[in-house]
Amino acid sequence: MEFNTSLLHGRTDRNDLGATQTPIYQVSAFAHDSAETLEKVFANRAPGFSYSRIGNPTVDAFEKRMAALEGGVGAAACSSGMAAVTMSLLNILKAGDEVIAGAGLFGGTIDLFRDLAQFGITAKFADTVTPESVSRLISERTRAVFTEVIGNPKLDVVDIKAVAQVCHSYGIPLITDSTTATPYLVHPFELGADIVVHSTSKYINGGGNSISGVIIDGGRFEWDSGKYPDFGSFRSFGKFAYLAKLRSGLWRNAGTCLSPFNAYMNIVGTETLGLRMERICENAKRLAEHLQSLDGITVNYPGLETSPYCRTVQSQFGGKGGGILTIRAGSRERAFRLINLLKYALIATNIGDVRTLVIHPASTIYLHSDEKRREQAGVFEDTIRVSVGIEDINDLIEDFDNAVKRSGENG
Ligand SMILES: *Cc1c(COP(=O)(O)O)cnc(C)c1O
Repeated sequence: MEFNTSLLHGRTDRNDLGATQTPIYQVSAFAHDSAETLEKVFANRAPGFSYSRIGNPTVDAFEKRMAALEGGVGAAACSSGMAAVTMSLLNILKAGDEVIAGAGLFGGTIDLFRDLAQFGITAKFADTVTPESVSRLISERTRAVFTEVIGNPKLDVVDIKAVAQVCHSYGIPLITDSTTATPYLVHPFELGADIVVHSTSKYINGGGNSISGVIIDGGRFEWDSGKYPDFGSFRSFGKFAYLAKLRSGLWRNAGTCLSPFNAYMNIVGTETLGLRMERICENAKRLAEHLQSLDGITVNYPGLETSPYCRTVQSQFGGKGGGILTIRAGSRERAFRLINLLKYALIATNIGDVRTLVIHPASTIYLHSDEKRREQAGVFEDTIRVSVGIEDINDLIEDFDNAVKRSGENG
């Protein structure tokens, strides 16, 4: 099956009544015919569900779709992308450990690393995640490397294969946040990544209607007990050790489960991922090319030939540059004027919607970062982030063209 066919026909949930879509099991608990049966379900000795914080058929169907989409051995859905990022790390880290992360990460993830410092977990930031920067930062205490495949909002593209090789030479897993790339552009496991997380609130859902996240395990990393002593009791799970530990530990106990309704909305969303991404990538490239031709504007889009990541985009994503671009308008005032002049683009803090969205990151999502952190993330006073939607490209070009020209008139 090719990509779009598998999105529709790769379904594995049980379906006795012929329902064409996964039903929504909007319940908290599942009743069983005897105390003995429930005992077995609790001990994972019988199939079935007990309580929706621990497992739910609709959520399970979503997890299976995501695992299949990424080519992993299994997945755990979470209440948000941030819950997924947090749990993916806390499943392997403890006080005294270090994690290496990209400086161009999503603002919420940067903030999370500040919170984790209070629990004795230290993040070391690399300006860009490359084999060289990772080698330089690795120490005896490093237990994970965390990176976004395409940084949001920096839009730096990581060479997954090269970075994974370095991680593995030190016996450390590579965790990739694939939110902005999606499985349409790349399958990180094929290139050596060990754990993939998504904010499925974004492109996976596609309609901007549910906050959610997911952690997917590639099942190949060897959790040696020297570096990861807590994995000792999960060895019998073999390639499922990471997920077994996650599901029986913090993921369940911190209550980071996804609601069945949101899982359903995401299932509906995944089915059109290929079509949406095809259109979004095409629109983003055309819009970036047009904006580049206008005076007083600089454009950052990995899919442009002028991008420093052009070669990695070619080799890793087959030339497609994703759906996000940033532009610099010359001044904060002009950036605000430009945003306010747009007719179709909504001013909102989200990405991956079918609608085009714009935001001024320095005054919003990067408000809590100092100037140095901000600029390391590619966010300047005059930066605008554009998450391109599926509108007709001529309307988008006309809208941005008009806003760019008029915002420059009285500036
Ligand atoms: C949005 C986003 C997150 C956080 O996801 P939420 O669903 O908002 O919690 C994490 N990583 C990236 C790259 C994101 O864009």
